[in-house]
This record gives sequence, structure tokens and C-alpha cells, in this order.
Amino acid sequence: ESLFHNVPLAPDVPVYAVMAAYKTDPSPNKLNLGIGVYRTEDGQPHMLNVVRRAEQMLVNELSVDKEYLPITGMAEFNKLSAKLVFGPESPAIKESRVTTVQCLSGTGSLRIGADFLGKHYHQHTVYLSQPTYGNHPNFFSAAGFALKTYRYYDAKTCGLDFQGLLDDLGSATTGAIVLLQASGHNPTGVDPTSQQWEQIRQLMRLKRLLPFFDCAYQGLVSGSPNADVEPVRMFVSDGGECLVAQSYSKTMGLYAERIGALHIVCKKAEVARCVESQLRLVIRPMYSSPPIHGASIVTTILRDRDMYNEWIIELKAMCDRIARVRQQLFDALHVRGTPGNWSHITRQVGMYTFSGLNEEQVAFMTKEYHIYMSSDGRINMAGLGSKTVPYLADAMHAAVT
Ligand code: PMP
Repeated sequence: ESLFHNVPLAPDVPVYAVMAAYKTDPSPNKLNLGIGVYRTEDGQPHMLNVVRRAEQMLVNELSVDKEYLPITGMAEFNKLSAKLVFGPESPAIKESRVTTVQCLSGTGSLRIGADFLGKHYHQHTVYLSQPTYGNHPNFFSAAGFALKTYRYYDAKTCGLDFQGLLDDLGSATTGAIVLLQASGHNPTGVDPTSQQWEQIRQLMRLKRLLPFFDCAYQGLVSGSPNADVEPVRMFVSDGGECLVAQSYSKTMGLYAERIGALHIVCKKAEVARCVESQLRLVIRPMYSSPPIHGASIVTTILRDRDMYNEWIIELKAMCDRIARVRQQLFDALHVRGTPGNWSHITRQVGMYTFSGLNEEQVAFMTKEYHIYMSSDGRINMAGLGSKTVPYLADAMHAAVT
């Protein structure tokens, strides 16, 4: 008898189960619109040219070594990452009120942030948007938080339930943490407008709710990293506190490098220093210090004006391609006379369309058309190309008629 005979079989993690099912499907028409990665027009993995160029430079750089980074990561990476989020002229940075630690991508940043809050913040309730990214609840339940939700998506309009959001945050427990997505909301593709963000900010500051921003798509929504992080900057410019989990997975196509950062904006430099000292104690028993390669790539790109500009041009091209397939899919459904109002396909932003297809319709599309996507109807638009749009439109048409 095994010492582990009591270990029960855990259910699959949905997004990985979809990926595995896709892999074993022998159909030549199969289409993977599940996991959130940006693909080329032909559905192939996408390496940014500027990333290739940075890697070549690093290979030839004799001063590069592989010794341990500090617990908090690469100092220059942290500085450049903070500037990317808060802006180069940010008073919070200049006043040393921002603590930044390099983390294992967005996931690691959220996890370290949640653990830090679990240990050092007085309120152990977190509010998540309804719906939200599937891994969000896990970070906070692992840190011992009570999970609550705030209304976000309105199925009738396929847009924002702004009144529901205001009502729920308005009646939230004072001091609670609110997880917000800076832009390109996953899974809905629905973001508040600037005016709505301003109202959210006022309400949250009034109720002393602590904002924790998940910033995984900065630049992949509008093509401008500055524009896509505007909500974060609004909250920082009022002088109040917040946390930001930043990821380079999607924005630089560095998924498997696991590179990102956690920023904690404080009211005073002394506080930021203490916060950083405690973050070190959270990180040390988990993985001691972060990996160096992704940080070197990002630093190489962000510190050089030409490489930065090259990145921006590539980001813009990625956004334009997503906008094109949005329009193509909308047009294809229109031509087919597919029942329903599909205007949300072009209204929603970022990588995802929250299609409104239900679980049965998605199951039908997988069975009959070998199209793989999350059961909530989320479509990764960046997995589509002009060649596959008609096939998806056929499948959606068949699913709803
Ligand atoms: N947050 C959001 C909103 C995401 O969509 C993702 C990736 N799907 C992540 C965080 C985490 O990704 P990573 O750890 O690769 O940054």
C-alpha cells in the first residue's frame, strides 16, 4: 500500500484541460481559442523581433553571468518596470514611495501580493469582479482571504454593469481589498471608461477600499502602454495607496520566462522601505530569488530608446491584427445572418471576446467543429486569423441556430 493512497484525484485546471484536449484532437481543422496567448495570422506562436534582438545582444554580452539575483530581483528591471507603469515623471517614484519586486510574472506578483496582504493588512476580505480571471480566487484563498464579488458584466448589453459595480463597492466592507484589472479585462473584454474609472476611484477612496490592480495587458489594448495603464495612474496621482501586479507574458510574448513585477505604492518612503523588507520575507521561503533571463530581456528593451520604440511598433501591429479579426468575425456573422446582436465583438477590447455562447453551445462547437475555448464562451481573438474566421463563424452560426 502506498503512503499516498489517500491522495484523491484532483480535477483538471480547465484552461489546461482544453489545451490537452486540443492537442490530442487529430482533426486538421482544429482551432485553439482557449488559452490566452497571442498568435500570428497563421495561428503560430509569436516571438517579437525586439525580443529576439535583445536575446542576441545578451548572448554576445561578456559581462552577463548567471549568479543569483537579490531576493527582490534585478534593480534596473524593477526601476524600469515601475516607470512603465507609473510614468517616467511619477512623483510616487521620485519620492521613493513605490516598492517594486521582480516576481514570477503576473501570477507570482498576485500571489506574493496576496500573501503580503494576508500577513500585514488588517482586512482579510477581497472583492473580485463577476466574472474574473479563473486564477484570481486562488491567490487570495491561499492567503486566507474571504472572497466576495462585485457585479461587472451585464449579459444583456455584453457590456459593463456600472450601476451594479457602484452599488456593490458602495456596500463593501470598509477597508476591503478590491481586485481591478487595469485594461483588457479577462474574460469579458469590457473596460470602464475614464469617467467611470474616476467615479470608481472616488467611491473606493471614500470607502477606504484598497485597490489591487492586475495589469497583464499593458499596451495590448490600445497599442499604447501609457493609455492602457491610465486607471492605475489615476489612483496613484491622488496620493493614496495601491498594489499593482505587472506581467510581461502577453505584452512582450515572454510567457514561459515568467517575468513580471509587484509594485506597492505607499504614502511614505519609510513605509515603502518596511514593506519591501517584509516582501523579502515572503519571497525567501518560496523561491529565494527570481530567474534572470526574462528580466535581462525586458531591461535590454526598456532601457534603450530604439528598442523601446521597436517594441511599441510591434505592440501596435498586434493590436491592429486583433482589431482586424474582430471586424472580420463580426462581418462573417452578419453575412451569414446569424441570429443575435454581435456588435459586442467589435465593442469589446483587448484579446478576448466574451461571446455570450453558453456551455452547451461551446460543447457543440468543440464536438462538431473541433473548436476549443473556455466553457464560459470566452474567445481568444488573438488565436484567430483571416483564414480561420469563416470556419469559426460557421461553427457559431450552427451553434445558435
Ligand atoms: N492576470 C490576468 C488578467 C491574466 O489574463 C493572466 C494570464 N492569463 C495572468 C494574470 C497571469 O499570467 P502570467 O502569470 O503569465 O503573467
